[in-house]
Amino acid sequence: MAAERRLWCNRTLNLRSIRAIGYDMDYTLVHYRTEEWERAAFQHALVPLAQRGWPVQNLRFDPASVIQGLAFDLDLGNLVKATRFGYVIRAHHGTRVLSFEEQRTAYASTFVDLSEPRWEFMNTLFSLSEASLFAQLVDLLDADRLPQTLGYRELHRILRSALDEAHNLGELKARITADPDRFVELDPEVPLTLLDQKHAGKRLLLVTNSDWSYTRSMLAYAFDRFLPKGLAWRNLFDLLIVDARKPAFFSGRQAVYRLADEERGWLEPHRGPLVPGGAYVGGDASLVESSFELSGAQILYLGDHLFGDVHVSKQTLRWRTGLILRELEPEMRALEGAGAADAELARLMVRKEELDHRLAHLRLARQRVQLGYGPQPPARPEDLDGAIKSVGEESQALDSVIGPLAKASGETGNPTWGPLMRAGYDKSLFARQVERYADVYTSRVSNLLAATPFAYLRAARTSLPHDPA
Ligand code: IMP
Ligand code: MG
Repeated sequence: MAAERRLWCNRTLNLRSIRAIGYDMDYTLVHYRTEEWERAAFQHALVPLAQRGWPVQNLRFDPASVIQGLAFDLDLGNLVKATRFGYVIRAHHGTRVLSFEEQRTAYASTFVDLSEPRWEFMNTLFSLSEASLFAQLVDLLDADRLPQTLGYRELHRILRSALDEAHNLGELKARITADPDRFVELDPEVPLTLLDQKHAGKRLLLVTNSDWSYTRSMLAYAFDRFLPKGLAWRNLFDLLIVDARKPAFFSGRQAVYRLADEERGWLEPHRGPLVPGGAYVGGDASLVESSFELSGAQILYLGDHLFGDVHVSKQTLRWRTGLILRELEPEMRALEGAGAADAELARLMVRKEELDHRLAHLRLARQRVQLGYGPQPPARPEDLDGAIKSVGEESQALDSVIGPLAKASGETGNPTWGPLMRAGYDKSLFARQVERYADVYTSRVSNLLAATPFAYLRAARTSLPHDPA
């Protein structure tokens, strides 16, 4: 199997001890053509902004300019990429790249700490339109074309509410359901994956923030054609929860309504345990656990939203978690393509380290000779100076080869931001959160098909700097 379709494991997961598998819908069971979806969301969000009199008519969604896993800096109006320790390694102000100097001035003494209100993390592919819009609105604000009293934080609040409106008011969703071929990327293997799991005795749960009418329309479109005759998507699930309001679904108690008439979408308030086979609006994860007599360790929940699906369910309930990360596929292809250049870069870095080491020892030898202390090297001061000069020159020459190779490596996958999971030589902040909160991660749900519902997924042995080479 192609590496890009494998399951990657941070913490060992025995699927045989999992009794229920919960699924998110959007970007998990149903994958969208991100460029189309996000362009549509972007356009719909412009409407309320134009109604405020803002000059947004020429703004266009720019899909190449952003990736998931960046953070908005609401103090400075920037978009930043950080390492797992929160060091900023790249930053944009509006649509403009910050120079190295500007970046250092802005972030030399700052860590990205996502618990601070200064930062907003891009947790999902739905954040792409938000980031592209934010960058362009920052440009407008800086150019004095928006009310100057706003500030970046308020600007962001307003654009968030414009995007919320776009997602919630129905027009955007009506466009998607009217023309799903344009927006949805079908995966014929997903329904069979779930069917295998169901027949293996797993309870299948759907927990989506989407509403009932959108959910049934999308799942009917994406599933029914690939299921055996006489079976529809609805038959696969032991529990449906729509309008789940994740992350609150995982962290608190919420009112629950039963879909008493699924055809008409009629609701009635519900009390007591959830009934197997039922469809509900709202409710919460604790109610799911008690109704089905499950503990967190027996439930695997799969979703694409790093915070709303994976972080909260792990942190508050210790559910087993899986992150669906479609960009892993293009990213792994790009990294594979860059393999030869990366190997050359690694080889040159070894040479660079040797030269640095020699230079450091030559400098120390000269210091000891000059000051007449410690073990005295047999060389004369002028010989040491000559050696320092020539090793220094070789090191500099090497830098001019390493520089472009390192730059190209940092641009793998996306010319502006580079790979999602890496930040220079280090892991990215996004990667850090994936390893912390997702027990497993994979590019799509149907990768579980080849694994089977009986798989024992073993965590990879992780590396430490002092591991024997
Ligand atoms: P899920 O991934 O199946 O839980 O559903 C995600 C739902 O959240 C979809 O219906 C999206 O339209 C909606 N959504 C995504 N981003 C936003 C947003 O920024 N504001 C409001 N709704 C959103
Ligand atoms: Mg989702």
